[in-house]
Amino acid sequence: LTQLFRPLDLLGMVYRTVRQGVVDMGAMFDLIDAPAEIVDVANAPPMTVTRGHVRFEGVGFDYGDGRQILNGIDLDIPPGTTLAVVGPSGAGKSTLARLLFRFYDPTAGRITIDGQDIAQVAQASLRSAIGIVPQDTVLFNDTIGYNIAYGRADATAAEIAEAARGASIAPFIASLPDRYDTRVGERGLKLSGGEKQRVAIARTLLKNPPVLILDEATSALDSRTEADILDTLEAIERGRTTIVIAHRLSTVVHADRIVVLEGGRVVESGSHADLLRLGGTYAEMWARQAAEREAALAEA
Ligand code: ADP
Ligand code: MG
Repeated sequence: LTQLFRPLDLLGMVYRTVRQGVVDMGAMFDLIDAPAEIVDVANAPPMTVTRGHVRFEGVGFDYGDGRQILNGIDLDIPPGTTLAVVGPSGAGKSTLARLLFRFYDPTAGRITIDGQDIAQVAQASLRSAIGIVPQDTVLFNDTIGYNIAYGRADATAAEIAEAARGASIAPFIASLPDRYDTRVGERGLKLSGGEKQRVAIARTLLKNPPVLILDEATSALDSRTEADILDTLEAIERGRTTIVIAHRLSTVVHADRIVVLEGGRVVESGSHADLLRLGGTYAEMWARQAAEREAALAEA
């Protein structure tokens, strides 16, 4: 029964927050633009995630307007490893994340986690296995404790505090007038981009999902704040199967494997060193961004 009520809860929450104008609409639509027609197959069993082995097998996709967005995507992400997806804006990177979260079903091929086709299992079980840290974090007009616990209503104060420590936001919270009960959002304290990202990281730590998606998680931050947060992100990736989507390459260097997506196809694949040696798109992106970093340093 609780399963049944959860989507309604979420809609109520979305409606209230949208009405209050707190929510970054873009981020919200990214999350909630879920087509309602995705329904579970009859008697869909819950997914059992033991190791978190994620595979895309010949995945193709279009949004129904005749434009092919993804083509023949084959990805094998061994349990506990990090795959980075880079490429130009519009390449289809976020679409990969939306398919893994099953906001849409592929139009060709399939996606499996630990051998189970994600289209054949109960959506609730799929979504509870996956954590997403998006580009812009949505904060609710509520307390910072509520915002960290969002999605885990049963979390204890001790668990919330531990997640805050893991996300390196505990000292900041300790400095607030009402600690975890301090109201944030439009009608409360305004948090910086970096602080909001740390709330999202704490939220994810509390959810403790075996599979993690970071979609441009640091791209809204300036490079100093990004540098501050990278260590924390790498720490939460440990022991989870992670997909890091990034435009800025500083966040992907450490990945076990990097794929370059262009026009909905994987055009390069390998480690950072492999791709530099290859001297293709990735190497070009790297050289361009290195030049930009140096220019920024020279200015500072
Ligand atoms: P990226 O994350 O690499 O910038 P996206 O996966 O967001 O790219 O988008 C890939 C392509 O799909 C883009 O051309 C975009 O305009 C298109 N697209 C994204 N969402 C939708 C949608 N809901 N309906 C139709 N087209 C979409
Ligand atoms: Mg994107």
